[in-house]
Amino acid sequence: MGNRCQSCGMPLSKDEMGGGTNADGSISSQYCSYCFKDGKFLQPDFTAADMQVFCLEQLAKRGMPRFMAWIFTRGIPKLGRWQNP
Ligand SMILES: [Zn+2]
Repeated sequence: MGNRCQSCGMPLSKDEMGGGTNADGSISSQYCSYCFKDGKFLQPDFTAADMQVFCLEQLAKRGMPRFMAWIFTRGIPKLGRWQNP
């Protein structure tokens, strides 16, 4: 557990920064550097659906076929960030 970003689902091992940063500057074990910086979400107004669209676009830009991108992003609403309103 804890190896995936709990906001976007990216494996933290793929994060070149090793994870986002907490307010005290330590590395977050829950969120990646694309989602979380200095203890704050970089997209604080996102819903799970917004995050799915955002990730689909990012993956498509990197050349991933749409159906693959969809498989990668369909689990996003189940991640920790989206469980508490
Ligand atoms: Zn993330």
